[in-house]
Amino acid sequence: MSDENTLSIQALARQNVRELTPYQSARRLGGNGDVWLNANEYAIAPQFELTAQTFNRYPECQPALVINRYAAYAGVDPEQVLVSRGADEGIELLIRAFCEPGKDAILYCPPTYGMYSVSAETIGVQARTVAAKADWSLDLPAIEAALDGVKLVYVCSPNNPTGNLIDPAELRAVLEMTRGRAIVAIDEAYIEFCPQATVTGWLQEYPHLAVLRTLSKAFALAGLRCGFTLGNSELIALLMKVIAPYPLSTPVADIAAQALAPEGLAIMRQRVAEVSENRAWLMAELNQCDCVEQVFQSETNYVLARFTASSAVFKNLWDQGIILRDQNKQPGLSGCLRITIGTRQELQRVIDALQPLPGANPPLIEQNSPRKEHM
Ligand SMILES: *Cc1c(COP(=O)(O)O)cnc(C)c1O
Repeated sequence: MSDENTLSIQALARQNVRELTPYQSARRLGGNGDVWLNANEYAIAPQFELTAQTFNRYPECQPALVINRYAAYAGVDPEQVLVSRGADEGIELLIRAFCEPGKDAILYCPPTYGMYSVSAETIGVQARTVAAKADWSLDLPAIEAALDGVKLVYVCSPNNPTGNLIDPAELRAVLEMTRGRAIVAIDEAYIEFCPQATVTGWLQEYPHLAVLRTLSKAFALAGLRCGFTLGNSELIALLMKVIAPYPLSTPVADIAAQALAPEGLAIMRQRVAEVSENRAWLMAELNQCDCVEQVFQSETNYVLARFTASSAVFKNLWDQGIILRDQNKQPGLSGCLRITIGTRQELQRVIDALQPLPGANPPLIEQNSPRKEHM
């Protein structure tokens, strides 16, 4: 194609789309690995068989069995549940329903999940940020001061990529300051790893609360593309106005319903226990590595750690086929890499690769150093 043609197509595109940097998903970033620990997926594929065969018919917009089972699982009413093509679609539906392009803004607190800004910018809605404090707690006065024109606040808890829960008192403070002004979406993509921390019990108190959920993480179904938005029926009804007529294909609804049946839930809870055990093992081993400066607590299926020479560490493991997620560019996360909890064998590969790498000031004499026993 000639440059001239390319240019004119560029000129036809909406300005915010021309300027958009698309989400750098783990898949888009590529890599030639055999140990994939960069997308917070579960390491082993669950097995399902399709039971639905009515592929000649359009699917239900909100398949009743999926809605009812998710409502029972989450402890809410069916009219408080919306199912969509992943939680990512829920993120976008909220913006489409509540934000006027070119006028309203969303607000979120980096370091956090990247899709809030990508969705806002795609739609032409300003993405405003209020950085989290150094300890990753929310900067409440700064959030309150930045609320002018904000229609939607996203808070991710437990947060991706840091792994920490947001203090419930801070979540409540955000809900109080936004009453009558903005929707607050609490992203609970990882809540199955700390189920006691869910805020779904607050729905009655806060008509402007939305909770985002997914089958991609603890349910091991990232390839299914199925997520949920929980909210009061009035909020859900607004999202129903902007959702596609058939957001879930028949096979997706079929498998989601199976995953949410009692046996599916039991398997999920077993998986969570196993991931948590592997996470504790990985954290202990990371703490023994010279190149690791800090390992952060995690309530999720990943661990964030700060490394000496993190770019070299990332590349070293990449070249061995071990693909991690570099979080070094996020505010406050210089030197940080995120490691998904894979199988014990995969995590052993990570540790084996990290152990020979040097720390900041390799000591010349290594006697009396219990940390070197393994070398
Ligand atoms: C993975 C993830 C999502 C997206 O979930 P999908 O259902 O796969 O679209 C949303 N929010 C956070 C914080 C995530 O980590």
